[in-house]
Amino acid sequence: MTETDDFLVVDGLGKEFRLKQGGMLRAVHDVSFRQRRGETLGIVGESGCGKSTLARMILHLTPPSRGEVIVGGDTLSALTPAALRRKRRDMQMIFQDPNASLDPRMRVDALIEEPLVIHGLGDRATRARRVAELLDLVGLPAEAARRFPHEFSGGQRQRISIARALAVEPALVVADEPVSALDVSIQAQILNLLVDIRERFGLTYVFISHDLAVVRHISDRVAVMYLGEIVETGEAEAFFAGPLHPYAQMLLAAVLEAGETPEAAQVAGEPPDPQSPPPGCTFHPRCPFMMERCQREAPPETRIDGRRVRCWLHQEGQGAPPPAPPLGPQAPLLKRMDCKG
Ligand code: SF4
Repeated sequence: MTETDDFLVVDGLGKEFRLKQGGMLRAVHDVSFRQRRGETLGIVGESGCGKSTLARMILHLTPPSRGEVIVGGDTLSALTPAALRRKRRDMQMIFQDPNASLDPRMRVDALIEEPLVIHGLGDRATRARRVAELLDLVGLPAEAARRFPHEFSGGQRQRISIARALAVEPALVVADEPVSALDVSIQAQILNLLVDIRERFGLTYVFISHDLAVVRHISDRVAVMYLGEIVETGEAEAFFAGPLHPYAQMLLAAVLEAGETPEAAQVAGEPPDPQSPPPGCTFHPRCPFMMERCQREAPPETRIDGRRVRCWLHQEGQGAPPPAPPLGPQAPLLKRMDCKG
């Protein structure tokens, strides 16, 4: 990838929160990646690993403590408040809980029209036509426009949220756990809708999920987060054929073991307290390959065949990396998401 291909550049992003009871919480640490236009990056990790904070920082909904985000050539921190408001038309977010983004007192047509009104786009008749188009695009009937969010199922409410996010024709969509509140069969329908929309409009997605099966379904590239850091990034195909980082290997093995009950997928050991992260490699208390050095020194990022990994096992001179767990054909992952709709 050349620099000119990059539509989204995230460079050295970090965020600490001051806690009411004193002390600091390091939510995100030194995250960098680049994305081409039309590409989907899936960011995966356990709950509390900093994924949602990262999502909000990418859109400058949460200001970063350090680092830069560049979208379509514009450095967000350098924009004036008015320019950032205009830029928001290019960048939209889909949230986990559609209820949180849909005002229950507003009718569906008003909810979908609202971003157009905020950005001053179109007259009343144009906006009404656009609402009708968007309802059709997300697979909802025209009469849905006159109803209220509580009259719909969870999957339908997420369709309304997607229509609302797409109303202003964004180029970048950050989706934070957009299907995790839905039943598995509905998850597949919403994922397929997001894939269709991406193909049709050439959207760039940052897709955040704790669920590797969901990430596999939609991503061109995968980034694995652990305790605020990206520990592995690579093309999805190579990643799912054999992750390099021990945490990524354990995540994938846990999903495969859990099979049809993804909620049972757990990596052994307790995630550490982000207020006092372990020294050295932050994964060392849970890592079956931990060496003495891992407790003292944080591994730098190493590039291997276009992939990036932070682990001492993959540094030059450390000998062979650990074998990936026996993944087999990954049937449970595929089967769970193999639903058209
Ligand atoms: Fe495990 Fe050490 Fe690699 Fe960390 S650096 S993941 S502790 S082997």
